[in-house]
Amino acid sequence: MDRKYNIVPLPDDEPYRWWRLFDDTYVIHYGEALDTFLLLGEEKALQIDTAYGRGDFPNIVDMLKGDRELIVVNTHEHFDHTGGNKFFPKVYMHPLAFENADKPFDPLPQEWFDNMPYPDYEKVGIEDGYVFHLGGRDVEVLHTPAHCKSSLSFIDHGRRLLFPGDELDSGQANLNVFESVGAFLKNCKRLKDRESEYDLIMPNHNGCPVAKSYLDDFITAAQHIVDGTPDLVDPNDVQEYCHGFFPGLLRAQVNDSCINYLPEGVIPEGAEESIFRDEVLMGSGK
Ligand SMILES: [Zn+2]
Repeated sequence: MDRKYNIVPLPDDEPYRWWRLFDDTYVIHYGEALDTFLLLGEEKALQIDTAYGRGDFPNIVDMLKGDRELIVVNTHEHFDHTGGNKFFPKVYMHPLAFENADKPFDPLPQEWFDNMPYPDYEKVGIEDGYVFHLGGRDVEVLHTPAHCKSSLSFIDHGRRLLFPGDELDSGQANLNVFESVGAFLKNCKRLKDRESEYDLIMPNHNGCPVAKSYLDDFITAAQHIVDGTPDLVDPNDVQEYCHGFFPGLLRAQVNDSCINYLPEGVIPEGAEESIFRDEVLMGSGK
């Protein structure tokens, strides 16, 4: 690989793998369960998320995009989606992501940050309805907050793919507080209304692509929670990734679609300091 970017390796870096899902669509896979996506248009390329930005991430993107101008966007503000932002001069995201986008989950060596070429990169706010024009491929932005207040989903009208970020995945939807389930249900119904515009769903975690039928089952599972008749299963069956952000999580499951959430009225310990603070406060009615 022709390495454009200098890299500062960290002892706990995990390996990357990448593959072409279609001739113009790459999955860039980090570690066990984190995916980012590179969509190639005729003129521009769209990188959806920057993972943790560890290891060779920017060099892999640079190699795969070819000569195209690169646009970088975050699905939401969590650091496993934004960590590599400082390798790029400009990153698009929902305005609600601005404040937390550069906050790592755990401390990282200063040397690693100092190596990144754009410490003060430009954050460009995009809202529901924004469209990226890549050349022969339009990608539409939807604001779908539930897992996170800044969550964007994308409908790729070129390859007919839905990118929901962390709002749902093949392992679960992590909703943290009870009140987010209602927002999740509303978002899923909206995405369901648009299902004639995509063929596959491309979550960032726990495997992709997944079938559109996950969405039907997520809607059923969320509706049952809201109705007070949740399809509860043993929360210890939660897949390894995203295991227990907060103790006491409940898990409801319909077919393969699972929702992790806290009982109504429960505010997790340490929520005020957590990166999920805003979701928790929104959910608690504060
Ligand atoms: Zn997330």
